[in-house]
Amino acid sequence: MVAAMETASYEVRRSARRRRTMSISRQAGRLVVTVPARMSATQERQLVPGFVRGFLAKEAARRLPVADTELQERAKRLFAAHLRPAAEGFEPVFSVRWSGRMERRWGSATTASGTIRISERLRTMPAWVGDYVLVHELAHMLETNHTKRFWALVARYPLAERARGYLEGFSHASDGEGAGRRIESLLGGLSTDWTAEGAALDPNGRGSGSTGRWAGGV
Ligand SMILES: [Zn+2]
Repeated sequence: MVAAMETASYEVRRSARRRRTMSISRQAGRLVVTVPARMSATQERQLVPGFVRGFLAKEAARRLPVADTELQERAKRLFAAHLRPAAEGFEPVFSVRWSGRMERRWGSATTASGTIRISERLRTMPAWVGDYVLVHELAHMLETNHTKRFWALVARYPLAERARGYLEGFSHASDGEGAGRRIESLLGGLSTDWTAEGAALDPNGRGSGSTGRWAGGV
């Protein structure tokens, strides 16, 4: 497949309040490990890399929910976390469903009706990749076309650039030469595809990307 596990780059922070446990989270996409202040440098070398690998493995194994209702809830949470702060008070009404009929696209958005479809192929990929597709389609509820503003909205999801890399790698690996090209639907409404767009993204999207806590004994 694609995009094996990312090379683990992370930041270690020491906390005087932390006594026996480590924690790890993503902050604006960056992995931050917090360890007890009294942990020795040797202990840090012995314990932190495995801790980070465990977190990444767990993160990579997580999947989007299969039920449409849960997918919809997830989309609402993603909108609230990443897009609402930039929506200037606009609250789009949208509905999100899985689609088993998308061969070459990861998602589509029809702005007039607020209809978002997500390809079932994303069910086998890490949830953080699927979240990117959701954020992408949700951003179309605020900005119809792939404008500069659109990409700035998408980049508010901290893992946007990584997810794009993952999907592009997947397209090339699975479809061969010429695959993953932009395909715009010419039928009805606005339908978008973006698997191979070259638009530059700001990797330092704002917003918090914490994916939860992982505590282990030290
Ligand atoms: Zn798009």
